[in-house]
Amino acid sequence: MARVYNFSAGPSMLPEEVLKKAAAEMLDYQGSGQSVMEMSHRSKVFDAIIKDTEKLFREIMNIPENYKVLFLQGGASTQFAAIPLNFMNGSGKADYIVTGQWAKKALAEAKKYGDARAVASSADKTFSYIPKTTAADFDPEADYVYICLNNTIYGTVYHELPDTGNVPLIADVSSCFLSEPIDVSKFAVVYGGAQKNVAPAGVTICIIREDMLGNARDITPTMLDYKVMADNDSLYNTPPCWNIYITKLVLEWIKELGGLEKMKERNEKKAKILYDFLDSSKMFKGTVVAEDRSLMNVPFVTDSEELNAKFIKEATDAGFINLKGHRSVGGMRASIYNAMPIEGVEKLVAFMAKFEQENA
Ligand SMILES: *Cc1c(COP(=O)(O)O)cnc(C)c1O
Repeated sequence: MARVYNFSAGPSMLPEEVLKKAAAEMLDYQGSGQSVMEMSHRSKVFDAIIKDTEKLFREIMNIPENYKVLFLQGGASTQFAAIPLNFMNGSGKADYIVTGQWAKKALAEAKKYGDARAVASSADKTFSYIPKTTAADFDPEADYVYICLNNTIYGTVYHELPDTGNVPLIADVSSCFLSEPIDVSKFAVVYGGAQKNVAPAGVTICIIREDMLGNARDITPTMLDYKVMADNDSLYNTPPCWNIYITKLVLEWIKELGGLEKMKERNEKKAKILYDFLDSSKMFKGTVVAEDRSLMNVPFVTDSEELNAKFIKEATDAGFINLKGHRSVGGMRASIYNAMPIEGVEKLVAFMAKFEQENA
């Protein structure tokens, strides 16, 4: 069996240990005589799975007691609508920082429901930096400020959160979930789809401060009402049981490795290998300003489209797959999420160095 190094932005690699455990438990989950794919979401055995998953989430992310952890569906994109429906409920205003496609889409969705505005944007330089803001930039009456913490397509991340004064901060963390510790108490809501760093596509995890709940608009579809989901412990309807189970295995894997501090160290080490190479290479260069570089998504280019295409092709043939950059940036992008082993990055860099030599 030859496994490739998958640098996809998502869905992405899962830890091999997790896949093996899931395979071993596939036909008979812990003596239940059934697969997790087959069992009732109301059964005792599944109840233990979802409760353990939540418990591990709380422990690993150090989530305060006054936050709910919800396991939902529809991907991050569905939350783009659920967020204004649930939280744009005071002044009907919300402030968005536009740092890329995902924030832009979230803003467009919010505009359908109220007075959502872009407070700052880095569109002028193809989203290659995080725009600076101060508390004075935000409307103190806004119901919330919205950010995308790690910008998957462009490879930027907030190293420091914007100061929003008393306005609740909501963050999409889809592509940096569980990659390093975050202080959940600084946010009113933290949410993300699973398929970058947590589990296969299909479960979306929303961590919501309790005082935010209970004021959804009357027109909010029941399935998008966070209070309904919270009151039913994410079991209002059939949840994505299998994905929740894989989430549990991934959380156990993180715990085993030593938690999020260790994960951060590992991720910093991996990213440094790649960024150091990009900074020293004459052929490849990173596209993001150094101070806003993401640990998870690393876009880079050569100065020729032809060379980019040749590199992507040869890399694919050598077992480094999905390195093509997003069409809006071009070039290449290596997504190096939690499950990418260090040797995957080391081998990629060795391959890039060789390619540079051969094509100089
Ligand atoms: C992938 C991604 C999304 C979209 O996620 P879906 O689950 O496909 O809706 C949204 N935001 C960010 C930051 C992402 O990386």
